[in-house]
Amino acid sequence: MLRKLIVAMLGALALSSCAQDAYDPGHDYFSFANSDQFVTRHLELDLTVDFAARQLVGSVRLSMERLDPAARELVLDSHTLHIESVSVALPDGLARDAEFLIGASVKKLGEPLTISLPDGFDPDGAFSVTIHYRTDPGATALQWLPPELTAGGKHPFLFSQSQDIHARSWIPLQDTPSVRATYGATIRTPPELLALMSADNDPLAVRSGEYRFEMPQPIPSYLLAIAVGDIFFAPLGPQTGVYAEPEVLAAAAHEFADTQNMLDAAAEMYGDYQWGRYDLLILPPSFPYGGMENPRLSFITPTVIAGDRSLVSLIAHELAHSWSGNLVSNRTWRDIWLNEGVTSYLDKRLMEELFGKERADEERVIDYRELIEQLPDIKPAMQALAPRLGSEDIEETQGTVHYKKGQLLLDYLEHAFGREVFDRFLAGYFDHFRFEAISSEQFLAYLTDNLLDQYPGKVSQEQVEQWLYQPGLPEDAVIPQSESLQRAADLALKWAGGEVSLESVPIADWSPLAVVHFIKTLPDTLSDEQLTELDQRNGLSSTRNAEIGRAWFIQVAKRRYRPAYESMRQHLIRYGRMRLVVPVYKALIENGQDKALAEEIFALAKPGYHPITIMAAELVLDEPAGK
Ligand SMILES: [Zn+2]
Repeated sequence: MLRKLIVAMLGALALSSCAQDAYDPGHDYFSFANSDQFVTRHLELDLTVDFAARQLVGSVRLSMERLDPAARELVLDSHTLHIESVSVALPDGLARDAEFLIGASVKKLGEPLTISLPDGFDPDGAFSVTIHYRTDPGATALQWLPPELTAGGKHPFLFSQSQDIHARSWIPLQDTPSVRATYGATIRTPPELLALMSADNDPLAVRSGEYRFEMPQPIPSYLLAIAVGDIFFAPLGPQTGVYAEPEVLAAAAHEFADTQNMLDAAAEMYGDYQWGRYDLLILPPSFPYGGMENPRLSFITPTVIAGDRSLVSLIAHELAHSWSGNLVSNRTWRDIWLNEGVTSYLDKRLMEELFGKERADEERVIDYRELIEQLPDIKPAMQALAPRLGSEDIEETQGTVHYKKGQLLLDYLEHAFGREVFDRFLAGYFDHFRFEAISSEQFLAYLTDNLLDQYPGKVSQEQVEQWLYQPGLPEDAVIPQSESLQRAADLALKWAGGEVSLESVPIADWSPLAVVHFIKTLPDTLSDEQLTELDQRNGLSSTRNAEIGRAWFIQVAKRRYRPAYESMRQHLIRYGRMRLVVPVYKALIENGQDKALAEEIFALAKPGYHPITIMAAELVLDEPAGK
């Protein structure tokens, strides 16, 4: 039935590719920067971390190049920054003060910072801009955790999340993925804490309160990252390691022991790893995402430390970004499927390589099912892989279309051309566009020249355009299958219908994804007595596995299964990762009777949530009840 709905939508709608206005798909509508006139080559940061004031204080020197000799005004992105002074200098020249203007604030985009080049200052290409500034305590990229919200409870913790347009809240810069720059940084902290960045972290760094970083490869602004806390290091392999608070370091090192093998497998399949070391940083539970692929140092939620290495697909995903996303980036945010979709394909391939096809197929089916469940809630225009995204569309959401539909496009191409040919194509693609930012149209042109036209008659450009510009899924999409999940689903229905006893369902022997699938397949008719038996026999309410907890508490809220409400409350307070908490709030709102309870729990949990999670939860809590 769903399939029919999707096909019907396809027929009924024509999308952005046909729009006849001045929309430019290559332009970044989420940045104020005039990056066609000036471009940043290098950033030099000098920042002091002030935990008491919740501010970064210091300066950035931007090494710029003027591309347009007539351009006299440099426009940068900023968001709630307090700018103190701006000066400009020619290479080896004296600095001169420059006038600047902070423009009116635009929701989510922040404020344009316009810097006028002084009279007589006429760079013949290269020049630098130095800006002294402070961040605001409410900077959207930064979370300042008090000691009680860390694992150790003794020291504060700071971490950044720049993607997608939050870098501008801690550095004034050209905040667009279309600009790549190298950076250097001096970071001053309380002497007992360690600072880390998306740069050349030294595993042997001595705590001194002053740390120096270099990032020699050019990166887009959304990959600028910093973390400061009571952090220690454990090696995982010659090129890999993990940083965490001492209280979680051993568990993290055990959980992610396969990281070096993953890195080696990925390099074997898709070309050399280009970034030197690959380390993980385990953040406190309030980190709003599963992971963030900050180059050389992925930021990772502690909620994937399940004790049994069952949730390490997240590491495969963040690592895979070292090729798709970090090496070849999306040109603007409407092209983010090039980043997330390609990575979602790669992470399944890595899981298959390391842990076998059955486990990878389980991941594929779970992802596919989540997409199909979400699609009806996503506007048709946003179901295109490469939607129209003007500045007025800043609040639009693709859900997980850019991840999961993007992956399905690559699955489809692999299926059509064969794995060997497609792997070769991908390795060539990463090499061809390395350290560049590209648009969906550049991808399509490269795909046409290097794959479609090389093996004519298999897939047409029009077929790929349907994926890029039309809603829903094309009818010939390759739908993933998993025998183990199918068995779990069959047993869920049989048990619910009284055909088999729960004792004969070997849940304890299953993978966590099979358990998740079992829980999600249970019919609405299940009685409270059955839910009690299921919970008591399998300890669902007290699970250590955050994905099982997520699936269970969504059902608890949806079905109003009151005996597990206290555990659900604890789940919502314990975690701040959006994926784990927002759908539970949504289920509480949608059951039509628990809006007040959802608001009460949110009020309790909010002090431990990241600003990004707070925004996402508030969106759900503001929805009308009983939708
Ligand atoms: Zn990702």
